[in-house]
Amino acid sequence: MIFEVEALPYSKDALAPAISEETLNYHYDKHHQGYMKKLKAAIEGTPTADKDLEEIIRTSEGGVFNNAAQVFNHTFFWKSMKPGGGGAPTGDIADAINRDFGSFDKFKEEWVQKASSQFGSGWGWLVQDEGKLSIVTTSNAGTPLTTHAKPILTIDVWEHAYYIDYRNDRGGFIKVWLDKLVNWDFANANLG
Ligand code: MN
Repeated sequence: MIFEVEALPYSKDALAPAISEETLNYHYDKHHQGYMKKLKAAIEGTPTADKDLEEIIRTSEGGVFNNAAQVFNHTFFWKSMKPGGGGAPTGDIADAINRDFGSFDKFKEEWVQKASSQFGSGWGWLVQDEGKLSIVTTSNAGTPLTTHAKPILTIDVWEHAYYIDYRNDRGGFIKVWLDKLVNWDFANANLG
């Protein structure tokens, strides 16, 4: 596998003020890179080092799983946002959301409710399974890659994702994420 975290798809100040450069200095440079460093240290010189990241996630447990899944989840999270993103979906994802949630407002309500109430550290995900969209949450490093469902979008609800900018207001972060950040182009590209 390639032992490098993918570059951010935008500059570190590009999501401000929704997410500050300071948050990305910690979240990307310290947390995301840190998971990769720990993963490399754990698998170097073992047969696991020859596998690709998704294969490692599907076949490992414990610390190797946690760090590998966090590397994947964060890369997916950066791509789930874009400068000037947010607002109503466009393209196929808009139709699929109306079909599977009833309306974009219903989707937003469920997204806020589920991501807000994930207990402790974790992730909110829009996933597609057998063609149908749904919202799920995972704890800690949990990822849909270990399930049958395909990830479409994700939001990181670990405190390190929002504490500098929003302090303890996870709900405030989730609302700004929907209004100013979510990247519907990425969602459209992921639809199967
Ligand atoms: Mn994170």
